[in-house]
Amino acid sequence: MSTIRERIDSAMLHPELRAEGDPDAIIRDGRRLDHAEGTSKPLRPAPEPQPRGAKVRGNRPIDQQEAAARFIAATEHEKMHDERLWDLRQKRDREMHGIPEWEELRSLASAIKEHTLTHLDEYLDQFEANARSNGIHVHWARDAAEHNQIVHGILRDHGATSLIKSKSMLTEECGFRHYMASVGIEVIETDLGERIQQLDNEDPSHVVVPAVHKLRTDVAEVFAHTIGTDPGNSDVHYLAEAQREATRPLILNADAGMTGANFVVAETGTFVVCTNEGNADLSANVPKLHIASIGIEKIIPRLEHLAVFVRLLSRSALGSPMTQYTSHFRGPRAGGEMHVVLVDNGRSERLGLEEFWTSLKCIRCGACMNTCPVYRRSGGLSYGATYSGPIGLIIDPTFNARKYSNLPFASSLNGSCTNVCPVKINIHEQIYAWRRVLVNQHEVPLVKKAAMKAAGALLSRPAAYRAAIAAADTALAHLPRFVIYNGLNAWGKHREVPHPPKQTFHSWYHANRGAKR
Ligand code: SF4
Repeated sequence: MSTIRERIDSAMLHPELRAEGDPDAIIRDGRRLDHAEGTSKPLRPAPEPQPRGAKVRGNRPIDQQEAAARFIAATEHEKMHDERLWDLRQKRDREMHGIPEWEELRSLASAIKEHTLTHLDEYLDQFEANARSNGIHVHWARDAAEHNQIVHGILRDHGATSLIKSKSMLTEECGFRHYMASVGIEVIETDLGERIQQLDNEDPSHVVVPAVHKLRTDVAEVFAHTIGTDPGNSDVHYLAEAQREATRPLILNADAGMTGANFVVAETGTFVVCTNEGNADLSANVPKLHIASIGIEKIIPRLEHLAVFVRLLSRSALGSPMTQYTSHFRGPRAGGEMHVVLVDNGRSERLGLEEFWTSLKCIRCGACMNTCPVYRRSGGLSYGATYSGPIGLIIDPTFNARKYSNLPFASSLNGSCTNVCPVKINIHEQIYAWRRVLVNQHEVPLVKKAAMKAAGALLSRPAAYRAAIAAADTALAHLPRFVIYNGLNAWGKHREVPHPPKQTFHSWYHANRGAKR
């Protein structure tokens, strides 16, 4: 029975100073020596360091597995990331169940996109003509380099040296910020998550929530280094307000603004930007010069089609009925100037790929990422590419088959991505198709190829397969551990090989059913 003094001591001690469950605690006369030399612990443990993304080495294949293993080893990050994205997936499901015609909307969206993509030249011409008559300057960029040069040219003509921009995956594709830094133009991201990533010199890890892989303590550390906040204060309101205070003057004094676009309407020559922070409206409306960089696949034929996509987008992305801001841009404001840069950057080539062209239907909602078990547990930066998660596995190899040759293998092919995709892209089938293409193009490691060839030969000969299974069963039961669990068995690194059943299905069937026929 403990004394009253001991009970008071125990109740008043900080949990980290209590002896229970602490194997290192030094106990003397039944009391813990809390302040003995070498026994004190910091009251607040050091935050877990943020795992960084894949190591990118020129054209060499990205080792997604290695980066994913580091992310998984950072248990706080992995848990938060997995739970946060699964929460978005569940919210998306709740919203979906509230719309009885959900499946019809998906089919309609898919049909509109497929129709538009198969008449892309006509709708792009129609958009250009209508946009010009609205007073918008329209430019065409074949690739990333041309896009960057066109934007630079517009800024140079206006003597602009600073640009505020809202989130745009297209500009990430183009390496836009690096290019602008090289020509002396300051770029300020206005989306909070994207700004965090910019200040941390990291790419976005998710198409909708760019800093979703970061804990609050990671953000506190980034802001402490860059905008001088208290490194020990990770309160979200404090951090958001500090960032607003630091960035708002830069926004108000910027020479030009840039947005992307979620949808481009051919019949009206207008475009629509959806955000939750209103930051695109700041980028578009504060400076007099507005530049919109838009991928050519963003086009839809008519304004009435917009409703279909707007109903699907935010529900699929964040499980919310609408984005907070759905802004229509119809032309330059009085005294201002508006430019649209329509960017190809490999899209026309992808349109010609029979098995992969429908990936151009993507509206970048991120639902396939939120549901993917590999993405949720490995973080977007482990892919070492602009696009991560299931859709990234299809898009990235179209940019560079060698560099991204490992990515289509980072999937369990469970098909959940396909099930949630609002525009019905057969994502898991395209991932599987990429594996075949990469093997045919000799972009798969020789060891993996040889192993698959041997497995193929074995599986196509039933007698040899059954003999091998019988031999493996005996071997697994008797071989020493080190023969099975060694560096050559990547599968067994984190798993135990299951005990083989006493009887295979084939021998059971032969004994019980086959004999009765
Ligand atoms: S592939 Fe589908 S689910 Fe994934 S981001 Fe694109 S539209 Fe969304």
